[in-house]
Amino acid sequence: MNLADSGVLGAILNSRGYRAVETEAEADIIILNTCSVREKAETRVFGRLSELSHLKETSDKKLVVVGCMAQRLGDQLIARAPYVDIVLGTDRIFDLPDYLDNGTALPAVNTETGLEDMADVIPARENRFTAFVTISRGCDNFCTYCIVPYVRGREMSYPASHILHQVNDLVGDGALEITLLGQNVNSYRDDDSDFADLLKMVAAETDVQRLRFMTSHPKDMSDRLIEVIGSEPKMMAHVHLPLQAGSDRILKKMGRVYTISHYMSLIEKLRSAVPDISLTTDLIVGFPSETDEEFRMTLDAVEKIGYDSAFMFRYSVREGTKAAGFDDDVPEEEKINRLNELIELQKKVAFRKNQAEVGKIRSVLVDGYSRRSHDFLKGKTEGNKTVLFAGDGSMIGTIREIKINSADSWTLHGELKEQP
Ligand code: SAH
Ligand code: SF4
Repeated sequence: MNLADSGVLGAILNSRGYRAVETEAEADIIILNTCSVREKAETRVFGRLSELSHLKETSDKKLVVVGCMAQRLGDQLIARAPYVDIVLGTDRIFDLPDYLDNGTALPAVNTETGLEDMADVIPARENRFTAFVTISRGCDNFCTYCIVPYVRGREMSYPASHILHQVNDLVGDGALEITLLGQNVNSYRDDDSDFADLLKMVAAETDVQRLRFMTSHPKDMSDRLIEVIGSEPKMMAHVHLPLQAGSDRILKKMGRVYTISHYMSLIEKLRSAVPDISLTTDLIVGFPSETDEEFRMTLDAVEKIGYDSAFMFRYSVREGTKAAGFDDDVPEEEKINRLNELIELQKKVAFRKNQAEVGKIRSVLVDGYSRRSHDFLKGKTEGNKTVLFAGDGSMIGTIREIKINSADSWTLHGELKEQP
């Protein structure tokens, strides 16, 4: 979500005559778009700000903090880091150029809510061929550990007409693949249209070639949505479905409102709709009162489900959430041990899943050169796995058939099936 917001902000700044530079030293304005979801993310931003403060001693660079931390802390951020010039919350990010152009008295802090529709802006992006489109903002789920609903506010869906307009603009600008974004895309609503309807509309009424979405809450993953994922050819074979924990008691305490057996039934339905589907997830270890046995249920689920990849976190107390009132009783060292054990297991599972790709022919959107060499290109399979293969730059921005020859836990290696 932050990456998408940064892309929109980048485009607005470009249109006002600003341009991106490679290093802080070259920059007149340094912008940090921040996350509040875990304490560590916030600590890192303060560390970064303190490093950047030295640059301010010898220049008149402006230091700007936008996004969730700006929203959550407002004036407190200036109190802790007085060298910050501008603080703009989650709904005020896109006002930044006005602050820069109007010579506002600094420091300036604005965390007012109420978002303008940015449907007319074509976001700046790393490569032209893939793009994000935000379909909803905020969240109403209030999972007990999570700060997002407090920081980003109530869930709000953009009208389908605006989303279609934005997808069409992006396709006109070279995007072949679009990822629809929201904290919980499955609860999207526009009058009578739900998320399954939106997917069908985007597939039918735009020339986008590949379509993805993120993130889905298991409680709202309907049979109709699974049916659309299975039957719509533009839908990529990948679903990110955060499980969070493998024990029903912990899931209940997290306020996730589903059981492990409901989650497993969704996985079965998804696999029968799309046999090759990639499944990825988010997991938290060391939630208050989680026993070793309950942690093992998470390991068990990871093993059984066989995720292609996972974002794994140790629980971090977020002030103001319901879980902040629970006793954070799993010792830090134990949280770290559980996280390491989980990461090790997931690495093995991912290796196994990627080995199963060997010998298959995958349709790959080629999005650039490999990091190490211009003799190799990189791209993404329908299952969202990174593939490296030998080829020349003229193939960047095309969809190619690649035969997978080998794999490790993170990357596939292959060769072009057809003649270049
Ligand atoms: N809306 C998305 C998640 C957004 S936050 C969803 O519901 O799937 C991304 C991930 O951060 C969450 O899925 C969760 O795994 C993790 N997370 C959120 N709050 C956390 C906390 N207090 N401690 C540790 N991890 C947390
Ligand atoms: Fe946070 Fe839960 Fe909302 Fe995701 S669904 S943003 S984890 S409250």
